Amino acid sequence: MSYVEEILEKVVAANPNEPEFHQAVKEVLESLKVVVDANEEVYRKNGILERLVEPERIISFRVPWVDDKGNVQVNKGYRVQFNNSIGAYKGGLRFHPTVNQSILKFLGFEQVLKNSLTGLPMGGGKGGSNFDPKGKSDREVMAFCQSFMSELYKHIGKDTDVPAGDIGVGAREIGYLFGQYKRLSTLFEGVLTGKGIPFGGSLARTEATGYGLVYILDEMLKANNKELKGKTVVVTGSGNVAIYAIQKAQQLGAKVVALCDSNGYIYDENGIQVDIVKDIKEVKRQRISEYANRVPSAKYTQGKGIWNIKCDIYLPCATQNELDLDGAKALVEGGCFAVAEGANMPTTLEATKYLQDNGVLFMPGKASNAGGVSVSGLEQSQNAMRLSWTFEEVDEKLKGIMKDIFKKVDDAAKRYNQAGNYVAGANIAGFEKVANAMIAQGI
Ligand code: GLU
Repeated sequence: MSYVEEILEKVVAANPNEPEFHQAVKEVLESLKVVVDANEEVYRKNGILERLVEPERIISFRVPWVDDKGNVQVNKGYRVQFNNSIGAYKGGLRFHPTVNQSILKFLGFEQVLKNSLTGLPMGGGKGGSNFDPKGKSDREVMAFCQSFMSELYKHIGKDTDVPAGDIGVGAREIGYLFGQYKRLSTLFEGVLTGKGIPFGGSLARTEATGYGLVYILDEMLKANNKELKGKTVVVTGSGNVAIYAIQKAQQLGAKVVALCDSNGYIYDENGIQVDIVKDIKEVKRQRISEYANRVPSAKYTQGKGIWNIKCDIYLPCATQNELDLDGAKALVEGGCFAVAEGANMPTTLEATKYLQDNGVLFMPGKASNAGGVSVSGLEQSQNAMRLSWTFEEVDEKLKGIMKDIFKKVDDAAKRYNQAGNYVAGANIAGFEKVANAMIAQGI
């Protein structure tokens, strides 16, 4: 049995009931097989794969808080500190009812390789809670965030572990979390990223994931003699990543005709009006169906099936496993030629394979959504220097980082005779740096 197969078997046996984690490890290790086979002796001797798939530490805690009726509610809280071989742990916090250890381990594992690709000195981690901010009052969200941080603050710090946002954690939550960290630790430091601009946040952090996604998409298209201008794009989701992906794609001349939330999808043949989406989602915190009430040319369809809309380019920006094999088949049938993932692991293993086998250019999330964590890294740099760069400066740096990621991914795929397989390229390039750092540092 090969080293990769051995480890895959062990991961499944040693981590029961963690399907998302198994999926992420399988996807990565299978494409690392070429590298692992070529360096088997040194990797085995150093236990590289055994260490790569085992988080350094998982902190799990109780989060009690008082709701508006005066009753005590209890949620689960976690921080997975996955790997700090190339820098302090870095990665978001997700607040969503589906959060569990399997999901956070898959996200933490992906984050290690993603952060490595950015070229910035950041290790990987992830955390969160099964708390659902949807429908909660501001006071309830504050009470929850304060309780969550009352435990988390013991385990994080600007040079140890730096959380940020993810699904369900935006500027409001980061503000409450930062306030509580500061009260308890008495330190005003860059311990969280995605902070508000008045207290150490970076300009362009809000836009970074969506903008970065479109920058790397543009690189991928150019490298394959295609262009974004004039193309029809479908974006899934309607959160922070989706909103700024739509905005940047439109700025670069594409026509974005659809977006969705977990209840249904909007189709607007005139092009999505991003300011209206921002008002609905960011200000009013409503469902996306509201868009059809405000824009007469838009049609709302309840349920799944956004992939049936004909498009050239599809950008899944909602959540894990949103695009399955049937969705992938519908996209290919509709003429889609490029997919770039804005969310983390939004495409199932079967759907990814189908798209690649059918000639669709496919950029995996760990490369294409790395713009968010990259600007988080730039926020840490600004905090450390006690200064702030302009929007244009940060945006230029982001563009440079995304170009560089594309080059690394493309080169790694070519080095292992898999030109155009950006899944393999991203996994290989991300892994090589982490593995070398782990070997150099011993155990
Ligand atoms: N949650 C984002 C991600 O998946 C951002 C993490 C960060 O900025 O630390 O990469």
